[in-house]
Amino acid sequence: MNQELFGMCRPDFLEAPTSWLCRGAASQGLTFKELCRWLGVGDRNDVDVNFTRKDVRKIAARCGLPPSSFDLVQRIFCVGVSLRLQNEVLLRVEKMPRYRFCPLCLRDQTTPNFPVHWRFNPWRMCYTHECLMEDRCPHCRAAVMLQTPMEKGGPQGRGIAFLSQCSCCGDLLWKTPPVFVGSLPLHRLSMLDAARLRNGCAFLSAVAHGRMSNPFCKALSVDQGLQMMERFGLIAGPGFPTADELRKPFELFVLEHKSQHAGVQ
Ligand SMILES: [Zn+2]
Ligand SMILES: [Zn+2]
Repeated sequence: MNQELFGMCRPDFLEAPTSWLCRGAASQGLTFKELCRWLGVGDRNDVDVNFTRKDVRKIAARCGLPPSSFDLVQRIFCVGVSLRLQNEVLLRVEKMPRYRFCPLCLRDQTTPNFPVHWRFNPWRMCYTHECLMEDRCPHCRAAVMLQTPMEKGGPQGRGIAFLSQCSCCGDLLWKTPPVFVGSLPLHRLSMLDAARLRNGCAFLSAVAHGRMSNPFCKALSVDQGLQMMERFGLIAGPGFPTADELRKPFELFVLEHKSQHAGVQ
């Protein structure tokens, strides 16, 4: 397979396909849709999953990239979507990918991009900065969905230059004070919740390596192992408090939860 595209940006280590496609389209003067179609990747619903179901080595060759550029990302998504867990593994809004982000990582990256683990629901903290992952733009509260193409993002759809900008309001996503895990008092984050936070790394590691070890069982598939962790409540699920909830004063958090509960009844 010959190289067909020149000057295409390289994916960062573990960069999610949608993130790379957004940057790649901008670097080639193409729209996101045009690049997806040219590569034969469906541009509807979950582009990350659509991409990893393709022959990624062929895509790498056509873009002049090393053959193994997408191998690990492909494996993570393939294992991730095959898991039979109660809770959704991948973050989505109406079938479209959604991402969390670490404000400090996003601020410090040379080229802002979204790694694959920011798509996974159990990944709730950044292990480099020991802070909670953020769920929404701190300025306009929009969910972070990279499928709004960069050329159409920002105010009045005039476009954004970097993925560290919110695709709705155009402001920098990382301009928010991080919630450091070590600064949270015990009444805000129990010992079990702290263990669930830490288990996000074990979860992704199991998915990436395709195996799990357990001192009590000799053979344990990733699916079985993660199902067991989920059954024992050791994985952060959808009800796990967000960074915004833990950032609020405790009294306000309790009041809001009470009123939400009353509303449901
Ligand atoms: Zn970080
Ligand atoms: Zn915004």
